Amino acid sequence: MTVQSQSDTRFDTARLIESARQVVGGGSEFIPLHTPTIGGSAWTYVKECLDTGWVSSAGAYVTRFEEEAATFTGAKRAVAVVNGTAALHTALMLVGVEAGDEVIMPSLTFVATANATRYCGAVPHFVDIETRSLGLDPAKLAAHLDRIAERRGGGTVNRETGQRIGAVVPMHTFGHPVDLDALVEVCDRWGLPMVEDAAESLGSYYKGRHTGRFGRVGILSFNGNKVITAGAGGALITDDEQLAERAKHITTTAKRPHRWAYYHDVTGYNYRMPNLNAALGCAQFEQLPGLLEAKRKLADRYAEAFADVPGVSILREPAYARSNYWLNALLLGEGQADRRDEVLDALCGADLQVRPVWIPMHELPMYQQCPRMDLPVTESIARRVINLPSSADLAPSA
Ligand SMILES: *Cc1c(COP(=O)(O)O)cnc(C)c1O
Repeated sequence: MTVQSQSDTRFDTARLIESARQVVGGGSEFIPLHTPTIGGSAWTYVKECLDTGWVSSAGAYVTRFEEEAATFTGAKRAVAVVNGTAALHTALMLVGVEAGDEVIMPSLTFVATANATRYCGAVPHFVDIETRSLGLDPAKLAAHLDRIAERRGGGTVNRETGQRIGAVVPMHTFGHPVDLDALVEVCDRWGLPMVEDAAESLGSYYKGRHTGRFGRVGILSFNGNKVITAGAGGALITDDEQLAERAKHITTTAKRPHRWAYYHDVTGYNYRMPNLNAALGCAQFEQLPGLLEAKRKLADRYAEAFADVPGVSILREPAYARSNYWLNALLLGEGQADRRDEVLDALCGADLQVRPVWIPMHELPMYQQCPRMDLPVTESIARRVINLPSSADLAPSA
């Protein structure tokens, strides 16, 4: 294991800058962390919205965008919404998460995963991650449930808090798929619905099947910093027609179709994606295969450039997966964690926009009191990850 044997070697930050510049281009040009690559039909489609006045909550591009998302991922249905957070909130409601329930998720995630849970009146419950994927560790989850959970009254209850466990939400960190077969097995054993937060993993596959398609429902994000963007946007993907229908209904104010009557049958949400955003999203889907190719190329170049740098490694896709390599991650060796901020300062100082990973959710004030297991891997990884510039146009496809 080269990585471990080198992990105590002190590296030189100048060497890191040199290796990164080798990949993204020399000189002193400012290189952002991630920018969208807008091309192809974007101008035509968006202009058509402007020219026809179909800019808002109705229009043909929304339906087309949903078809693109379903076709690309292989899901039977996709329902477009205003952003990935809204998609998560909707998905959690539709699998039956209710006020007071606990929702199992990694602590190392973007805050939206925990926030969407809170929007349901539910409580995040944090489980540790594994280093291979930086996502939920199925073995730790299984052992944790064996310790704290019991089947009671048709559900699974946390014996320590007395609360029902409503769902399990794995997240595919930086696009790298978690070990889904093992997770599905644990969820099935406990009768827990799985909602995949695939916000970062459009174009990532687990054993040949697109991420987001392993639970009852998965969600995607089309925010400006994701692999492709609709300006803002999200989608639910599912093979469950009925769930898709209900998703469409409650995200469009739960209005019953009628020529003129405003009849809403439940409390709905105004979560629909505007046609203007869907138009940009449709154009981006046409670019997606090329962008994914470029991103793999970029990831390979980083791996090569940092291969001989002691004390660091570049995160690679797990053996079972094909990752979209949304964001490249430099991992400092365990002995170097105390140097993270020094590295961030040095790279930013060299006009390379780099970022640490999110502060784990259990360290944020509003989620500090949430139930959790011991999170040693989460806490170690959170101190050692540095995301490198990862825009697709840093490695243009042929
Ligand atoms: C981006 C992201 C979201 C939310 O998506 P938005 O479209 O920004 O609301 C949710 N979860 C994760 C892990 C994300 O990275």
